[in-house]
Amino acid sequence: SHSYVGPDYSIQKNTGKISLEQIDALCVKSFPLCMRQLHRALRDSHHLRHGGRMQYGLFLKGIGLTLEQALEFWKKEFIRGKVDADKFDKGYAYSIRHNYGKEGKRTDYTPYSCMKIIMSNPPSQGDFHGCPFRHSDPELLKQKLQSNKIPPSGITQILELVKGMHYQLACQKYFELTHDVDDIGFSLNHPNQYFTESQKLLNGGRELKKEFNNSGNFQQKNNSQESINSSSTPTSSNAKADTELEGLEAYFTED
Ligand code: SF4
Repeated sequence: SHSYVGPDYSIQKNTGKISLEQIDALCVKSFPLCMRQLHRALRDSHHLRHGGRMQYGLFLKGIGLTLEQALEFWKKEFIRGKVDADKFDKGYAYSIRHNYGKEGKRTDYTPYSCMKIIMSNPPSQGDFHGCPFRHSDPELLKQKLQSNKIPPSGITQILELVKGMHYQLACQKYFELTHDVDDIGFSLNHPNQYFTESQKLLNGGRELKKEFNNSGNFQQKNNSQESINSSSTPTSSNAKADTELEGLEAYFTED
């Protein structure tokens, strides 16, 4: 009942328009907390375990990285750590090509939705994937928010939403606080949606749409898509995509 039915973000009109040099800056400005956490861990340790590579690799594909860029991006980072170029080519490059549908069943894999990240494959010790609003201990989440310069009142609001298990609403609040807007104006359900909306806002491409209902209360204009506490109907294509993703995970045997 929690299948994601929004856009799949597998094809972006900006494919190939993002340079690898832009990623650090884009991360600070427009990545949701889950992807910031993965990017930081990758830059710091020059490695991510398979759950992180799946979640982050498909997100990067969704924001526009080509296969060639992805191979370069991961290789450059991994060979700064304990993996040499030969090991990378033998152990990791295949799975990246697979992500782009160039190996195996040649399925063009789609980036994970919030629901998938929140509901499946929780991170273990040494993992950096998952949703920080769902999977981080509240004290650790508080520290992460402080280090991202969220003011104390905002941290309190976010932690309250987390306590009520409203993880995507907590992420929406994080978006509002980091973009200095009063209302996000959309219903968040995908990390790539977060990125796209952030870029639109920062580049002046989106007006925040607000409207008032009969009782005078603010309503979000675009809240038809699912969130963690609402139900939605599974579709056969989503079920198929989930099965395919599970198949893909088997390819990520390198740790
Ligand atoms: Fe990422 Fe979605 Fe969690 Fe936000 S709510 S941190 S976008 S998984």
